[in-house]
Amino acid sequence: MKLCAHAPAKINLFLDVGPVAPNGYHPICSVMQTVSLYDIITVETSVQPGIMLECPGSFLPCDSKNLAYRAAQAFFDESNIKNTGIVMTVEKRIPVASGLAGGSADAGAVLLLLNTLFDKPLSKDALLQIGGRLGADIPFCMTGGTALCSGIGDKLFPLSALDPATVVIARGGADVSTAIAYGMLDEKYSMQMPGMPHMWEKLGKEGFAYASRSEFYNIFESVILPHHKEAAAYKTILENAGACAAMMSGSGPAVFGLFDDENDAKNAITKLEQAGAGAWLCKTCGGVQVI
Ligand code: ATP
Repeated sequence: MKLCAHAPAKINLFLDVGPVAPNGYHPICSVMQTVSLYDIITVETSVQPGIMLECPGSFLPCDSKNLAYRAAQAFFDESNIKNTGIVMTVEKRIPVASGLAGGSADAGAVLLLLNTLFDKPLSKDALLQIGGRLGADIPFCMTGGTALCSGIGDKLFPLSALDPATVVIARGGADVSTAIAYGMLDEKYSMQMPGMPHMWEKLGKEGFAYASRSEFYNIFESVILPHHKEAAAYKTILENAGACAAMMSGSGPAVFGLFDDENDAKNAITKLEQAGAGAWLCKTCGGVQVI
């Protein structure tokens, strides 16, 4: 049997970071949203034992350095399924190392697909826990939609879905190392704890539809945008093209804009491409879709 899923990228509508904890992790408070820019994942049983991964057209490694591969290993360890063979393909569409959690999306989709392929040996909670051990963003990528995330991003509070919106994502210029970006925050700020109570109050009173217009915030912009001219320029293009909000996602360098008017969004794509960006038109959406 062969199964296929769409694994959507995430954007951060709000992202605040607190001071590094003794365990080396930074606490975060974030409103995350999945969008319909997705990788395509297939899994299939094989007579050849072991995990075989292919990433056609991508430079990514296809061994245990790949999060999709590690997710499959963790699934077999945890479910105690032995001597099985699977072939997986990861067709990358989400730009790599961009702040869009593409690797986490792939890993989450692999966990859900394998659990379906092998007749559900693990509960949804067990799968979320495996995901959380592999990467902080993975539980959110498995659940998707709109959620407030705390801890290191692994504690989820689902929110009512944001009104459907058209999203333009733009990416170009140098990669940003997430670890270096956190280091830059440590250097610039003696950071307060992230704004959970503030966000809860805001979300309780107004819901995120309101907050999305006035409360978009990403602390990483203050350390990345001054040095990343492409990301800063693409954000300005999105704003000038009529985005009701435009911001960097995660530690960047991808930036996104939310548009009320789809024609404005399409014009933004043209302008971004003229400026040399990779640009994608998509919509807010739910989590991993098994198709
Ligand atoms: P993060 O914020 O978690 O660092 P990101 O969203 O910025 O992630 P990803 O596309 O997830 O970026 O890639 C992060 C790193 O993970 C890259 O350096 C990449 O080589 C590695 N990686 C491993 N497996 C994958 C995968 N399946 N897809 C993308 N990147 C992967």
